[in-house]
Amino acid sequence: MRHFALWLLLLSSDLLPAAQNTLQIYFVDVEGGAATLIVTPAGESLLADTGNPMPDDRDAKRIFQAAQVAGLKKIDYVLITHFDRDHSGGAPALAKMIPVGKFLDHGDSIETTAPQDAQRWQAYLSVAAGKRISPKPGDRIPLKGVRAEVVTSNGAVLAKAIHGGTPNPALCADAQRKDPDLTENGRCLGFLMTYGKFTFLDLGDLTWDKEMELACPVNKLGTVSLYQATMHGFYADRAGAPAHVWAIKPQVVIVNNGPRKGLLAPAYERIAKIPGVEDIWQGHLSLANDKQHNTNPDLIANLEPSDQCQAHWLKVTVEPQGRYTVTNSRNDVSKTYRVR
Ligand SMILES: [Zn+2]
Repeated sequence: MRHFALWLLLLSSDLLPAAQNTLQIYFVDVEGGAATLIVTPAGESLLADTGNPMPDDRDAKRIFQAAQVAGLKKIDYVLITHFDRDHSGGAPALAKMIPVGKFLDHGDSIETTAPQDAQRWQAYLSVAAGKRISPKPGDRIPLKGVRAEVVTSNGAVLAKAIHGGTPNPALCADAQRKDPDLTENGRCLGFLMTYGKFTFLDLGDLTWDKEMELACPVNKLGTVSLYQATMHGFYADRAGAPAHVWAIKPQVVIVNNGPRKGLLAPAYERIAKIPGVEDIWQGHLSLANDKQHNTNPDLIANLEPSDQCQAHWLKVTVEPQGRYTVTNSRNDVSKTYRVR
């Protein structure tokens, strides 16, 4: 009996190191922050954002657990999209749990006036100094096995389109414009990752004005397979410009919302209207929304408020032949998509 149980344990795919020749992406639940752990087919790893700073290191522990499940002994790159607490706050604690190769960021934080922000910035420097790289739009992240390109950083966006670029007159004509954002959000280090025909876009909390620069008059990003909905599901309508979101036409959207953060009803409607979108997956049930403005519950990783949350994750496995599967660790529901 004991042997049988061991067998089951060994057979459980989650406990095996990253399967060769697949790209794996874990959307770790950090209660409305961001922590996206990517393991390339070559076994290299990139963590995009590190969740919140917590007295009990809750988010760093959750990321570390995912890294262990992925079979990682170190994280090659920790990429901080920007220095807000829900993205950069877990980095110091995490760096004490697992070795980190390099830190990628947009350059120095511009929000260091408030004591909490200054303290968080110093804590970041204490683990990242001497290991920082601050790439510019158009630069490649030197990850093996995938192509990862920086598309925004420190307020700049790609000068030239990648993947061809497509004039976007219909969506740009009457597009709503918003004032330039002068916070850390507008400086996000955003990237596009390509593996075969599969593409994944993570822009962190990039703001509406910068999305418009990426989308008009030419959509500089082309179309994407998987899209991490920007700013946790267009937080307070500060992101999610239709001219951008409807032009990149993601096949599948993953929203890293919290129980009460991001993804309000108008954002859900905008995502649902993406031409050709096949599914929306959510990190959390959005408690402020009715049933019609949450996805199918099977595709939601966590249903409870944060104090009862079990921190289930969504995981994406991309095969080299152009199929990818999203799995919900709460209920083992999975769906497979063919890259278009
Ligand atoms: Zn955020």
